[in-house]
Amino acid sequence: HQQQAPVVRALFEGICRGDRAALARGITLAESTRDDHRRQARELVAACAAVQRPRALRIGLTGTPGVGKSTFIEALGMRLLRRGHRLSVLAVDPSSARSGGSILGDKTRMQDLSAADGAYVRPSPSRGTLGGVARGTLDAIILAEATGYDVCLVETVGVGQSETMVADMVDMFVLLMQPASGDELQGVKRGIMELADLIVINKADGPLELAAALTRTEIANALHLMLPRRPAWTPKVLRASAATGHNLDRVWATVLRYFDALRATGDWDALRAEQRRKWMWREVTHQLRAALDRDPAARACAQSLEADVLAGAVPPGAAADHIVARFLANKN
Ligand code: GDP
Repeated sequence: HQQQAPVVRALFEGICRGDRAALARGITLAESTRDDHRRQARELVAACAAVQRPRALRIGLTGTPGVGKSTFIEALGMRLLRRGHRLSVLAVDPSSARSGGSILGDKTRMQDLSAADGAYVRPSPSRGTLGGVARGTLDAIILAEATGYDVCLVETVGVGQSETMVADMVDMFVLLMQPASGDELQGVKRGIMELADLIVINKADGPLELAAALTRTEIANALHLMLPRRPAWTPKVLRASAATGHNLDRVWATVLRYFDALRATGDWDALRAEQRRKWMWREVTHQLRAALDRDPAARACAQSLEADVLAGAVPPGAAADHIVARFLANKN
């Protein structure tokens, strides 16, 4: 058993006291790509993962820009704080990985929640690959749980890949939609609906109420045709309004029913175990690839073969064989 570095010990003690500033610094450490930071973050995450606390409810939330995610999180979140919960909100923003820009990073979002005592709102890291951001977020969840946040929301937007990654790090996945015509609904990616344990049709208020009811029916019908994701739970569709607060209590009651079902069947343990396995292999894949990228011989081989593959002179599979063989050749 190794001695913890002083910086790690200080952060760990802060986190165990429920100190939000220590959590923030811990997450910054986990997001860093510096080798010494990564080692410290590994230690900190391992220590936090061993902390005995009641399990937090890890909930993913997705929806296209403008559907009302931040309004919804703010309204639901303030309700949860009034009920005595502590809430952390993390974000995985795929746009930052591609462009350095941000869809979710706007500082004016969720102002009440950001200022509230029982909440911690963390914007998506503005740099890094999607895979790196996702791995950092998984660490951040573990740190937030150890800090005593008993509800952990992970917000994401957009391209299918980020949603799949977030679905792999949460217990429940919620899709936020808005009233839409049948034609518009045709365009909704089926893969995203298949990930959802709960679909909320937001903006069910004022002139949009009727449209929301129609959308709810169409989505419910579409869900009937899909295979349920979990044996213990059939996905639900609810209407709600983040603006007026209509049905938000019902949304939360449904979330709690979902977790009751997970608990009753033992599926919760199985789900987390399977996720841990998945992330271990993602990390292995990532590290092997990073090692290959650092290996001069393999890199030179890859560079010249890439040109051949682009030109169509060498098939991709054969090129991959060569590159991996070159990488492994000087490992033995
Ligand atoms: P996000 O991009 O998904 O985070 O969406 P926002 O929360 O920023 O909301 C986008 C727009 O929809 C804003 O103008 C909100 O005021 C509006 N909006 C959000 N929730 C509701 C709702 O329940 N009803 C109505 N009518 N408008 C809403």
